[in-house]
Amino acid sequence: MVNYAHLLNSHDLKATFQRTQILEVIEKYGHTAIDKIYEEVSKVHSSLSLATIYKNIILMVESGVLAEVSIIGSKSKYEIIKDDHIHLICTECGIVIDKILDENTAKDTAKVAEGSSFSLKHRQVNLYGVCDSCQK
Ligand SMILES: [Zn+2]
Ligand SMILES: [Zn+2]
Repeated sequence: MVNYAHLLNSHDLKATFQRTQILEVIEKYGHTAIDKIYEEVSKVHSSLSLATIYKNIILMVESGVLAEVSIIGSKSKYEIIKDDHIHLICTECGIVIDKILDENTAKDTAKVAEGSSFSLKHRQVNLYGVCDSCQK
């Protein structure tokens, strides 16, 4: 389990109750959309508004605690930041599956950035398709 207070502090953010609640929900569900985060956080903190939760999420994205996963045709999902990886996104049920970036793929994506005087910082690759259970 992630130590949320330490994670927030190491990104110069105060470990407030709402922030740790948001992180807890995201860790529990993996890639999580804002409505789900709001629904879950409201259960323990009913006075929190959607706007406050949204503001905190944006702040944590800007500080590098969370990563936004933009999904074509649907709402963004959020995850706690980790090493670069590939997303397999199901266009039927919306599930997002993490796939570790193997060495060759990492090199290939770095090659794309090379030679265009572009300094690669991080990568997010999203592949769209239909997941195993939606194929059945
Ligand atoms: Zn699916
Ligand atoms: Zn991910």
